[in-house]
Amino acid sequence: MPKDTDYYANPTDIPAGTLAELLLDAVEEHGDRPAYGGPGDSGLSYAEVQDHARRGAGALRRLGLGRGERAAILSENRLEWALADWSCLAAGVADVPIYSTLPPYQVAYILEDSGAALVFVSDAEQLAKVRAAAAGLTHDIRIVVFDPTAAEGDAISWPDFLAMGDDSELSECVAEARQAEPDDVATMIYTSGTTGRPKGVMLTHANLTSNVRATERAIEIGTADSSISFLPLSHVLQRMVDYLLFARGCTVTHGSIETVADDMKRLRPTLLVSVPRLYEKVYQRVQGAAGLKGRLVAWATGVGRRVALCRESGVPPGLWVRMRYAVADRLVFARIREAVGGRLRFFVSGGAALAPEINRFFLGAGVTILEGYGLTETSPVTNVNTLEHFRIGTVGRPVPGTEVRIADDGEILIRGPQVMKGYHGQEEATRAAISEDGWFSTGDIGELSEDGYLSITDRKKDLFKTSGGKYIAPQQIENMLKQCAFVEEALVIGEGRNFPAVLVAPAFERLEAWASEAGIRGERAELVADSGCQEQLQREIFASVEELAPFETPKKIGLIVEPFDVEAGTLTPTQKVRRSAVQAMYAELIETMYRPESLDKTVFVA
Ligand code: AMP
Repeated sequence: MPKDTDYYANPTDIPAGTLAELLLDAVEEHGDRPAYGGPGDSGLSYAEVQDHARRGAGALRRLGLGRGERAAILSENRLEWALADWSCLAAGVADVPIYSTLPPYQVAYILEDSGAALVFVSDAEQLAKVRAAAAGLTHDIRIVVFDPTAAEGDAISWPDFLAMGDDSELSECVAEARQAEPDDVATMIYTSGTTGRPKGVMLTHANLTSNVRATERAIEIGTADSSISFLPLSHVLQRMVDYLLFARGCTVTHGSIETVADDMKRLRPTLLVSVPRLYEKVYQRVQGAAGLKGRLVAWATGVGRRVALCRESGVPPGLWVRMRYAVADRLVFARIREAVGGRLRFFVSGGAALAPEINRFFLGAGVTILEGYGLTETSPVTNVNTLEHFRIGTVGRPVPGTEVRIADDGEILIRGPQVMKGYHGQEEATRAAISEDGWFSTGDIGELSEDGYLSITDRKKDLFKTSGGKYIAPQQIENMLKQCAFVEEALVIGEGRNFPAVLVAPAFERLEAWASEAGIRGERAELVADSGCQEQLQREIFASVEELAPFETPKKIGLIVEPFDVEAGTLTPTQKVRRSAVQAMYAELIETMYRPESLDKTVFVA
């Protein structure tokens, strides 16, 4: 196994396969076992999933969609999402997932760019969005609505859609599904760019199947496992994990981030994948206890931490620590394990950075979180901690079949069977991302330990993620803000926080003119502190970003008096904003904006 500190490989031969085969093989192996759970008896067995795929694929053909064509899915996670996906895969139709939180103009862009001839939508709200988007499309689009009560006009309800494929033969469907080639595009997933429009990441059958095969070798999963699919299926992480669980004969129930806390207690999953936000919320809730309970939690956290550190270093804790731990476990930690269902083998965290202290807290509480790393472009997993190879503060070692290299400037490069085919219709961007010899540039900066553990230390790309794992493209938002007549400079922040916020230097000429009309006078510092001026700025600023999706809309405004400046070090000589310098200069203001007690306030002043 080659290794030095700039390179680490985990060589294995992962056979190229297709997702269609993965479905068929799993049905053969697990036929009557429950594949998807649902309220009451509404879940489906593996064989029933295949039957839905037969009918769905038949219906797609009846509607004129065949191999190489595209269908979009605009829906929250639900059983029909998975069934529509399997139907597309069986028919050789590449599907294009769309976040249900996206505004109509972004939905329109994806429908247009992908050329989707059909779109599955969940309910009346998403249907209205597609109707608004469809008006500007250059091609016709059919609509299928999962919620049967929401179908109207020429939109087809999900039961009617399935009925259209009722008479298709299973043997024909299987023969058609088996025609898929590993290199065929299975899905196109749109991902944010730093500037410009989102890019359609083309993932092939082999990309996703190899990632299933690689992760199942890294982490043992069997038919006794069950999980809740609650991260958006529009993102590749939950989707790949669900394929993996399907291949292993597990049962998956669809859910949402809003209900996952209750669902965990009810469904008692054995494993769960989430973005860091969920772990942060549990941690904050536990640590937020007041009075006597608060003191007990603080004590138990300290004891748990010592035990976690012992586990990490492989040194068994002494008798005194073990005795105290038994008490802490009974009074505090056992309750945390109960709250997550009491049967959990491990959590997986991915999509954004998990704070090592939070991971360590859970380890101390007897709950293992396996942090992993990857991108949409890598289907997604490149690295993951496992029960055997586990190191907090790292994203683990490469999964089998994957090579990791650190470029001279620190950028993490990945080569392996999971690296995408390319960006749809963007050859130049594809060439910029993947070198001729197959290395994909991640845009993240990292370090490799000698034994192959990767740490993410920084970012090269001008994109960041909130702790909910949502991409924020600050430049795009800042460009929108700078079109507002009241804004001179804007800097969007929120990396690793649970929502974005913005620092704004007002365009004082405009503000002064407005203020004098409103009868408000004063120096600049006085104007930004004036409640009338603040209200006006807030109105104007929010109006300028009205088109953004809720998750990317800044929730707080921090007003600063001095514009960015080369001499102050907040601008480069070429007039580019030095983000880290601005954030350091206004660190106190930023902290205040994110304090829990600031929840009700929107405008802040430096
Ligand atoms: P996406 O394409 O949405 O999956 O986003 C991929 C990006 O998420 C990566 O390039 C990283 O910047 C970030 N990311 C994913 N996992 C982690 C992690 N464990 N730690 C830090 N950043 C992560």
